[in-house]
Amino acid sequence: MATRKIIHLTTFSALRLAEPILKALAEKGYATPTPIQAQAIPCVLTGEDLLGIAQTGTGKTAAFALPILDHLARSTGPRIRHTCRVLILSPTRELATQIANSFRAYGRHLGLSVAVVVGGVSHRPQAIALARGVDVLVATPGRLIDHLGERNISCAETEIFVLDEADQMLDLGFLPSIRRIVALLTGRQQNLFFSATMPREVGKLANELLRDPVRVAVAPVATTVDTVTQRVIHVESRDKRSLLVQLFADAAMSRALVFTRTKRGADRVASHLKAAGIPVTAIHGNKSQGQRERALAAFRASKVRVLVATDIAARGIDIEQVTHVVNFELPDVAESYVHRIGRTARAGAAGVAISLCDPGEIGQLRDIERLTRRSIPAEDHRSDDGVINRSSAREPDNRDRRHGNRPRAVAVRATTGQGSQGHPARCSQNDHKRRRKGRQWSSKPARNGNRQGARGAGS
Ligand code: AMP
Repeated sequence: MATRKIIHLTTFSALRLAEPILKALAEKGYATPTPIQAQAIPCVLTGEDLLGIAQTGTGKTAAFALPILDHLARSTGPRIRHTCRVLILSPTRELATQIANSFRAYGRHLGLSVAVVVGGVSHRPQAIALARGVDVLVATPGRLIDHLGERNISCAETEIFVLDEADQMLDLGFLPSIRRIVALLTGRQQNLFFSATMPREVGKLANELLRDPVRVAVAPVATTVDTVTQRVIHVESRDKRSLLVQLFADAAMSRALVFTRTKRGADRVASHLKAAGIPVTAIHGNKSQGQRERALAAFRASKVRVLVATDIAARGIDIEQVTHVVNFELPDVAESYVHRIGRTARAGAAGVAISLCDPGEIGQLRDIERLTRRSIPAEDHRSDDGVINRSSAREPDNRDRRHGNRPRAVAVRATTGQGSQGHPARCSQNDHKRRRKGRQWSSKPARNGNRQGARGAGS
């Protein structure tokens, strides 16, 4: 595996993005690319496949949205009905909407069409939008397959394919759907693959999909966000709800996300907080799309102090200034802990993650500590009545952290294939079409110069 020279670019204009995109970024007040953006954008601009390992909160959406918009801006053409030039798969409806909104915001001066295709909402308006043809389609796998089956959309003209939050996709059982969708792509498209963690199955999927990818990582796999102060409180299961209410006596907990393992658990915790006079709403898979959107809007607008959520509903949601994440129950899958606490301390802000651990959850706690390679400072609430016993608490120790305070970006080529080590060469729309034809989803990616040739043609 050859190491890609790390390029430090301090401004967006140094990345040479199209002028209308720079204008939109300036209007949003973004001056400096985040580490994942500084690494990923030049690679994506060359037309290469990318394997991005980054947690939410690192700016990864813009890391793929900006170079994609740049590509679309530089290669316009008549819109072809029932097709999309860019296809982005997202595990959840909320994340899909959020990604689409990012494309709209960064591309607001480009006049491109962005459509969202997700379940839980009416099918017909989606079919009408797809019939016109779209530049960017953001979809969840299930609803996209419905539309593909009805021939409302075809992937024949898709130039760039993005698989976001791949690990979550696998957790949700979307692998067969993803394979079906990928089989309908031409094989000539550029592929961008993002995952917060890299379990074996995800690595396998990346190997199957990507050809000679550049690997870009911010923070090693399963390293928890460095700016989050983590605490665990050992507590009997029956005392968790009253302890949760006690925690909210702290006025600093002004915008808190509380995670439960089950949908019913989320409702129960929300009712308990409500009864204690704490403004709260809940979001989970049994809520209608309208209810989910209203709950998120109320939380974003600070109309409620607490959002109680299950993992699936909260995944990838970008809400600014979440002060605290509370794990009312520890997740069964240790990787989910990384995602949960990544909801706070976004875009460099500080945050606190508190985990309530009952005796039956010690195993999960150990798994989390093994995965994140750190021990979480613990307090014991089991020995007394209602008062948190801090005697066993260890103060959070920043020096404990292996990887310093800031996410580090590392870009390496995942194979020893020839890379564009020099200046980013841009791919035109036709370059994408000249890519190798007929590649099968299951076939081992060829490492020959064919694709490189297509890129070369664009430089
Ligand atoms: P993401 O990881 O894509 O969910 O992004 C996390 C948050 O960072 C979002 O609120 C973005 O709008 C914000 N963000 C992304 N890129 C930048 C940047 N270069 N400067 C400041 N904020 C950013």
